[in-house]
Amino acid sequence: MLRLIGQLYVVSNPKYTHPWDANSYLIAGDEPTLIDCGSSLGFEALKAGLDQIGYEPRDIRRVIATHGHWDHVSGMAQLRAESDAELWINAGDREAVETGDVDHTSAFLYGQAFPAVQVDRLLHDDEIVPIGPYRLHVFHTPGHSPGSVVFTIEINGLKLLIAGDTLWAGFHPKLGSDLDVWARSLDRVCELDFDVVTIGHCPPTLIFDAKIKVREARQQFGVFFNPWFKPFHIKFTY
Ligand SMILES: [Zn+2]
Repeated sequence: MLRLIGQLYVVSNPKYTHPWDANSYLIAGDEPTLIDCGSSLGFEALKAGLDQIGYEPRDIRRVIATHGHWDHVSGMAQLRAESDAELWINAGDREAVETGDVDHTSAFLYGQAFPAVQVDRLLHDDEIVPIGPYRLHVFHTPGHSPGSVVFTIEINGLKLLIAGDTLWAGFHPKLGSDLDVWARSLDRVCELDFDVVTIGHCPPTLIFDAKIKVREARQQFGVFFNPWFKPFHIKFTY
């Protein structure tokens, strides 16, 4: 576990929990809230990590999802079994997680099931969720998946963009990805007010020069695709 800034911790990522996990975050304090919760394979390690900073699963009030993919939220069913934590997600990814859709949750890339889980509340574009002393501003940024969102949150005077997989993540028709929609979402992200950024798949750190890096990402978007991508669960033997 790593404290990024203020009450914000990174609690799952490839080093801490499981090699296939995306970054997920804990906003500690009176209303412990996770931003994503990592995968089903990383759940036990997530629990151990939360324990290190004094939290148990039953302390978690809610998981606010950047989107409904396996590496970000497939641990939710296990968390729910040990807590009353609610799942909040945008409507665009609701059906996928409630039915455990292997394609739309990206589970097919990992050769895993997605344990279906009920959504408790929908995240809406341009809404502000108060969490303890912070205000999490939600922006619906579809493209990687229909229900992808990004968040902005000001912590200790620093404006942070939590971009999830809206920046730098993969495209596949089976995910419901849409290039044109995604491009428009990226244009919108470029207009948001932030100083630093963190993304779903990166070392657990705050990335500075964020405005320039987001603009670069926009310009590189969709220019060239790699058809040689190897799903995470496949190992070649010779
Ligand atoms: Zn994703």
